[in-house]
Amino acid sequence: MEIEKREFFINPESKDALLKSVKKLAKRAAKLGLPEPTARHVEDVEVMVSREVWDLEWKIKKVPVLKSRFEITFPEVKIAGWEIVGTIDAEPVVTNAKPGWAGSLKPYRDHPTRCEHCNHNRSRKMTVVLQNETGELIQVGRSCLKDFTGHEVGIFNFGIACNSLEQNFGPRGEPLANTEYLLMLGLALIRRVGWTSRTMLRNSGDPHGMSTSDWAWDASQIRGGTEAEKFAEKLGLNIFEEIGTEREEAKKIIEFIADSKEENDYFLNLRSLCAESHTRGKHTGTVVSAAFVYHRHLAKLEAAKRAGKSTSSHFAKVGDKFGRKLSKKDKDAGATAYPASEGTISFMHTRDTDWGVTTLIKWVDDNGNEFGWWSSSESRLKIGQRISVIGTVKKLDEYKGTKSTMLSRCKVEKMEVSK
Ligand SMILES: [Zn+2]
Repeated sequence: MEIEKREFFINPESKDALLKSVKKLAKRAAKLGLPEPTARHVEDVEVMVSREVWDLEWKIKKVPVLKSRFEITFPEVKIAGWEIVGTIDAEPVVTNAKPGWAGSLKPYRDHPTRCEHCNHNRSRKMTVVLQNETGELIQVGRSCLKDFTGHEVGIFNFGIACNSLEQNFGPRGEPLANTEYLLMLGLALIRRVGWTSRTMLRNSGDPHGMSTSDWAWDASQIRGGTEAEKFAEKLGLNIFEEIGTEREEAKKIIEFIADSKEENDYFLNLRSLCAESHTRGKHTGTVVSAAFVYHRHLAKLEAAKRAGKSTSSHFAKVGDKFGRKLSKKDKDAGATAYPASEGTISFMHTRDTDWGVTTLIKWVDDNGNEFGWWSSSESRLKIGQRISVIGTVKKLDEYKGTKSTMLSRCKVEKMEVSK
């Protein structure tokens, strides 16, 4: 059996929770006769995280935050030649691809409850997408998995749990929050404390601990009284006091998301989640990020109006690294290490040169900064796709007033943001 390795960056306070989750998975693996998943704490590192702060206007600041880097190993679950590459929740429709899988679950949104094994399209909570060695995909109802592969369901449930460790690793349980109220809390937090993102590299996570969405979720579960007082003390802010002022804006955000035309997986998930009156704990990150997306949209409109030009900046310098460690030489040269650059592809242009075909790929990160890379190998990517890129800054470019940071020696990963 193959062993798969994944890397997580988590908030140091969440170490115990992660180790506990992995221990539980290890127990399940032992029962199934599989190699046990392991978690190894590699190091604590400072990474730069963007925070948007309300200071009469929205300002995005990069601040250093301490993270714990973990290396997690999983047995690669293959049953009768089939590997679980994703799950589709039916109500609301939310796709969850296996981290690192290069395919797309988008086509399954049209028929989230279909089972290609029994061909009954009946009401189901979840279907599973499997892929075999030849790349063939099949969508199977959870209850049909045993019949389809001749194996017990336990091993599938274990595989699904491994795939969704990052996603499930956070606010737990089935309590619900009113979606509008959750957004109001998110807005109040962003305005007063700043925004802490959960959408870093899918593999490296920045998953849980106390991001803005986790604070918002915790606050949404409090029903007043001394509990609320304690919460306000811990946060250093009585968030429940002025929350009413955020209602109008929360409504606008829900409208903005409903009207958005973006077609990437993240937006498709966001649209179905924000259309629901209530939100489950595990979807809080995605829902609360709508507040950030909305503000970024307003800020972009505003900036474009004011200056008639791009808001992209050169915050890194030549020699800085994204998603890579600095060598001693780099450090001596004064280079800075940033997390992998995550963004949405905005431009692609392929050129034939004497040395072969090369493609210019440009993407814009969540702060509106543009990046570029001349690639001789990437042909799988598309405009609008969310990617995460590891690379080294080669050059600082400017074209028609838009600054872009050009990277070289890149490694690209497609992403499906579902946090
Ligand atoms: Zn079936």
